[in-house]
Amino acid sequence: MAPAVYSSDPTRSRGRRYPEPPPVFGDAYDEDRDRIVHSSAFRRLVYKTQVFANHEGDLFRTRLTHSLEVAQCGRLLAGALGLNATLVECLALAHDLGHTPFGHAGQDALSDCLAGHGGFEHNLQTLRVVDHLERRFPSFDGLNLCFETREGLLKRCSPEDAAALEHDEPGGVATRFLPGRETQPSLEAQVANHADEIAYDVHDIDDGVRAGLLTLDDLMAVPLVAATRQQSLSAHPGLAAALPRRQLADTLRRLRLLLLDDLVQTSRAALARAQPGDPGAARHGGALIGFSAEMRESSSALKRLLFAQLYRHPTLTQTMRVAAGVVRLLFDAYLNKPGAMPPAFAARADRHRAVADYVAGMTDRMALREYRRLTGVHAFA
Ligand code: MG
Repeated sequence: MAPAVYSSDPTRSRGRRYPEPPPVFGDAYDEDRDRIVHSSAFRRLVYKTQVFANHEGDLFRTRLTHSLEVAQCGRLLAGALGLNATLVECLALAHDLGHTPFGHAGQDALSDCLAGHGGFEHNLQTLRVVDHLERRFPSFDGLNLCFETREGLLKRCSPEDAAALEHDEPGGVATRFLPGRETQPSLEAQVANHADEIAYDVHDIDDGVRAGLLTLDDLMAVPLVAATRQQSLSAHPGLAAALPRRQLADTLRRLRLLLLDDLVQTSRAALARAQPGDPGAARHGGALIGFSAEMRESSSALKRLLFAQLYRHPTLTQTMRVAAGVVRLLFDAYLNKPGAMPPAFAARADRHRAVADYVAGMTDRMALREYRRLTGVHAFA
């Protein structure tokens, strides 16, 4: 599909904070994807927990494979909606760069450690990673990404954080969170956010079943899953008994396609109604990318079940309790002895934030290694 009038156009980008000559290959968003994929924060995603801790098995999603699945869903959606697929891919590949080791347990622990010191929020941290913490270019910190990429990465922002960001960059990435200045994210950012949701709704079922914490029978309580499983059973009678893993994969593939298709049909209709004349016009009023009301309800039912049966499963919560303890111990250890961190972090005056940046950047593996070095015991003995 040809680019729609409301798609983000790399030749009309608001540009980079530090002016640079045009890229040698491709357009401005191709250049951003190149910078993201070659960043060290991106490589570290391979050893960061999505839901199941990295050491629990080789086939579970990691932050890296999750991000690749988000990029894949996002590209399909962008193509079907006439939006800029490269910008969506940049947002998908970079959206979790600010995640701590051990997923949400790590983030919550770090957030507790920083109470009274500005707090910690992984989404804001993603922006810190691409704006400040990556050190790869001779004359500036960060990756110096395009405005549209940076703005799209900032999904949430408290009024206090927005005011602080606005102070550093007037009219910048946080402006849309200021009181009275609210707008929707770009259409590409809305697509990336939905691609994230579609990816994890589907792959968390797969990982939950693989871990033995969930069965497809449990999921029959969700009409959406029951319907897609029934489609699969009708198309391939006997598969469930003979080859249950293939039956699960077939059901989940159908589920993913159903979610993608609903999003495309609903968003196409909304765009046709609103007829935004350019990318800016698409951001005023309600969000134009979204599921139908029925699919939103079905997907909420699925999420409720995943919460109750998977994310709060005692096996997972026990692992995450230990993981949170690891993060807290590391934070305290470096806070008391900054010299134990690399010089770039040890030398910083903002000690709490320096320690948070250092610990947040760790992979699960490195955090466990450091924990063992400091305490002499294995966290997961
Ligand atoms: Mg994600």
